[in-house]
Order: sequence, then C-alpha cells, then structure tokens
Amino acid sequence: MSKGTLFDKVWDLHTVGTLPSGLTQLFIGLHLIHEVTSPQAFAMLRERGLKVLFPERTVATVDHIVPTENQSRPFADSLAEEMIQALEQNCKENGITFHNIGSGNQGIVHVIAPEQGLTQPGMTIACGDSHTSSHGAFGAIAFGIGTSQVRDVLASQTLALSKLKVRKIEVNGTLNPGVYAKDVILHIIRTLGVKGGVGYAYEYAGTTFEQMNMEERMTVCNMAIEGGARCGYVNPDQVTYDYLKGRDFAPKDTEWESAIAWWESIKSDADAEYDDVVVFDAAEIPPTVTWGITPGQGIGINQLVPKPEELPEEDRFVAEEAYRYMDLLPGQPIKGTKVDVCFIGSCTNGRISDLREAAKIAQGRHVAAGIKAFVVPGSERVKEQAEAEGLDKIFQEAGFEWREPGCSMCLAMNPDKLQGRQISASSSNRNFKGRQGSSSGRTLLMSPAMVVTAAIKGEVSDVRELL
Ligand code: SF4
Repeated sequence: MSKGTLFDKVWDLHTVGTLPSGLTQLFIGLHLIHEVTSPQAFAMLRERGLKVLFPERTVATVDHIVPTENQSRPFADSLAEEMIQALEQNCKENGITFHNIGSGNQGIVHVIAPEQGLTQPGMTIACGDSHTSSHGAFGAIAFGIGTSQVRDVLASQTLALSKLKVRKIEVNGTLNPGVYAKDVILHIIRTLGVKGGVGYAYEYAGTTFEQMNMEERMTVCNMAIEGGARCGYVNPDQVTYDYLKGRDFAPKDTEWESAIAWWESIKSDADAEYDDVVVFDAAEIPPTVTWGITPGQGIGINQLVPKPEELPEEDRFVAEEAYRYMDLLPGQPIKGTKVDVCFIGSCTNGRISDLREAAKIAQGRHVAAGIKAFVVPGSERVKEQAEAEGLDKIFQEAGFEWREPGCSMCLAMNPDKLQGRQISASSSNRNFKGRQGSSSGRTLLMSPAMVVTAAIKGEVSDVRELL
C-alpha cells in the first residue's frame, strides 16, 4: 500500500467518507465539462429535479465537435450545432462558466484549464474525457469519468471510487536530441503495456521529468491512461510554480506564498512507500513511432515491426490483428512507411511548445507532394500566441494548413477525418482502428517534430536527420 505519496495525501484530504459499498466518496475540486459527455448528464439531473451543486467548481468548453476550418454558426453539421446549443443552454441555466468559440479562452478542455491556472497542485479534477490525466502534470489527481459520473459530480461534487495503488516510474538522465516527451511516454507504454497500469496511479519521477517544462509533463501525464493507469502525476516543483504564477486563476498576493507552502506539503515524501517502482534510462529512449493499433505497439524509428515470436504470448493475438489492419509485415522497417496525412494537434501535443518545436523543423522546408498536412492549435490562446511568434507563417510557407482550435482529427467528431485507407502521422494519443474518422484509416503516433519530418519526407522518417 502506498504511503506518504502525493496520491495518498491528496486522496485522504479529499475523502468525504466511506460508502456502504466500501468505495471512497471523494470530493472533486474542479469539474471540467464539454459538449460530448455532458448533455445526457444534465438531462439526468433535470429528470430528478436536481441542480448543479457547485456551479463555480464547474468549467465548460467546446472542443470535440468544432470544425477547424469554418467555425461560423450555425455549424454545417446539424448534430454538432445541436450539441453546442445544448451546452450553451445547460451552462446558462446552471450558472456555469462556458468558454465558447470566439471568447479568447476556448480550446481543448485539457489545454484551457492549465493555461488559465485552473489546474493546480493538490486538486482533485474530473472530466468526462479519458485524457483528464493530463492535469496530473501539476501534482493534481485527475481522471476521466463516464457520463453517469459526470451526473454524480454535477449533483454532488463527489465521486464513488476505489483507491488506486501507486507505481513510481522513474526516468533519469537527459533526453537525446530529437527525443521528446511524447517519445518518453510511448516508450513507457511500450515497455509496461497498455494494461500495465490498470489499478494504478503513475507517479512520474526522476531527473528527466524534473528537467521537463510543464507542457512536456502534460504530454506524459496525458497518455498515462493509454498505459492503463487511471491517472498520472508529477510532484509540483519550481517549474510548476513558475508556470502558474500570474495566470488568471492562480492564487495572488499573500495567498501565493501560502499556496506554495501547501503545495510543497502535499509532495511525495522522500521515504514514501510505493506499490511498485520502475526505472528507465533517458539515454535509451529513441524517437518512437507506433506501428499497430494500440499505443503500446511502438518501436524506435530504426527498429523493425516486431515478429510474433519476439512478443510476449499475450500480445501476439493483437499483433496479428495489427499486421493485417495496418498492412505491415513482421520484420519490416517502420522507417520509410508512406503517409498520406500529417496532423499536429490534440490535447497531447497541441500546446505552444509543441508548435514551437514543430516549427523549428518545418522552417525553410516544404511538405512533400501529395501530402495533406495541417496544424491545429490546442486553444484560442495557443493560436494567438503562435501567430504572435509567426509560427503560422512558418507552417503555411512550408505547406501546412493553419486551422482554428479544437480536437480535430484526434477523434474526428468533426469534419477533419481520414479517408478510406489513408495513413496518418499523428501527434495525438490513440491509434485504435477507425479512431481518426475512417473505419479503415490508419494512424501512426509520434512526436510533433516527427510528424513534420514525415510530412517533409512523405514517409516515416528520423527527425534527427533534419536537426
Ligand atoms: S484532443 Fe483527442 S483525446 Fe484530447 S480531448 Fe480531444 S478528442 Fe479527447
């Protein structure tokens, strides 16, 4: 049983009580909602004649369904228009702050909360979206919930949950050039498996994470869920405090010093006990690309698609399915795989530092003939900042389309979709069958810098050749 960890402390401090079922009733400090998983929850509340208990602890945005080319209203897709209208109405009726398109604050839910300083250390955060784990980068306990749980949080600001075990994942050392936070998390998932984290919270520790900026930490925590962990976190430190200071909802004046004292107190103790510890060496992590249909099916850029006999027995069935679906042969190099679409964006890699890194590779180069390449900023603030720095021009001159903020082709609940068997090099987080909008479309996950490299070369390539 974990003891003295941040997870333990935050969990205990937010425990309201133990339910007859044995589950913990956990208070949720911040509830983030969006248009996809909230309408049914509000409807359930209405059916029972309930009100939102703490509207001031709920913040809404619209992200999954928004078009990234033409955002004028009404949306061309009537279902998308219906969904945004439902959210507008629900927020109005319940006094919930809604960051709508054009507000200057709209964007992907996991991008906007940190950038506004809503996400803070020691909080419990829930959202009806799996990648809520992103907020753990601040030392918060943050997890995705289902629609009935969204209802529960709206009505009671609490959730019934069983406590998780804690695995410390330590990565030490400096990353090699061309290796990014995305490669780190793909490497971890590839090693521990997509189910390796089931029942665990992941604590990311070690000098590699200490050296990362907050956005890199968010990329890592974002994909904790892809490794099966319900949440992932990094203990707060000076990097966290520097990022938060001055943001809209960060504590101000005298409250700032007491907030830091509190945040320091909830860090994992030096002698904390963990349920498991795994250690990685940063120097051994290569630029990583997925070849299959789960985020765990990843390999180094210069490695070969694994043969069934090289895989643990329990992974062979999914591997066989992946060879067929992806049209890749065991033993073939992933490098050189032709791509059709290159997508930079999502809550994993649609932040300003991602766009800066991607622009460094794109500058002075051009997308290969026949490739559709586009960049979707994670939020209106990211877009504004990128344009102030001239990143939009760099991308456009290189042949990328520059779009409006939203989830875009990460989940393709909007017009951005793969067509037929197209292969995409994608900076998003899931390569499941059909994830990017075509039931036969194929996705290769990689870092934004690697996506740009693929766009320029027209095939999966090693970013280090362009550095
Ligand atoms: S970018 Fe993708 S993973 Fe993130 S919230 Fe949107 S659809 Fe979900």
